[in-house]
Amino acid sequence: MIRRTASPIVTPMITARQALDRLREGNERFVTGVRSMDMLASQTRRNELATSQAPFAIILGCSDSRVPAEIVFDQGLGDLFVIRVAGNIVASSQIGSVEFAAERFGTPLVVVLGHSLCGAVQATLEELIRPKEQQSPNLRSIVDRIRPSVETLLATELRHDPVALVRHAVRGNVRVSANHLRNGSRILEHLIQREGLLVVGAEYSLETGAVDFFDGVPDAWRLAAV
Ligand SMILES: [Zn+2]
Repeated sequence: MIRRTASPIVTPMITARQALDRLREGNERFVTGVRSMDMLASQTRRNELATSQAPFAIILGCSDSRVPAEIVFDQGLGDLFVIRVAGNIVASSQIGSVEFAAERFGTPLVVVLGHSLCGAVQATLEELIRPKEQQSPNLRSIVDRIRPSVETLLATELRHDPVALVRHAVRGNVRVSANHLRNGSRILEHLIQREGLLVVGAEYSLETGAVDFFDGVPDAWRLAAV
């Protein structure tokens, strides 16, 4: 359980495990085409939320138009603190955003949310196989952050299987981002060690709509969820 350190309280903060369960349940609703009444009712709380917020999860996801966190987890206004960037990479501004929400609101769970067939990951693989001479330096800054997690895969037999290569590269990139958040910030390290903050990695399937939390979830929780 993490205590909120500032800001008025909207609702009591939940634990990381409760937050993960809430995301899982929301994603199950999304997959089965059901919308939560709580999610719809949250829109009537707009005035209340104008002066305070208590998001129960922080989502660092890809900018892809098909993976909006609030929709795929069936959550409403004030529920999620969302950071989106192509390829769900972690640079200083993403770490700062996560620090801000985790400290300010006491949010107990961070999810790095990648997705199948991620265009940023595919672009990185293409760039490694056939480097382009002219690439925007801004785009390159994204590719360069994805590169280390996919480069090693190209040295394996996976290079002969483009579909499996992208699948592994997406997950590798999520793992790298999650590890970067776990180890790249004194503030986050402190919250993880002392306050129960949990950073997990997940992959959203464009095909099924399901989210698989495959990285950083304690084994005991995993078994309980089956
Ligand atoms: Zn993507």
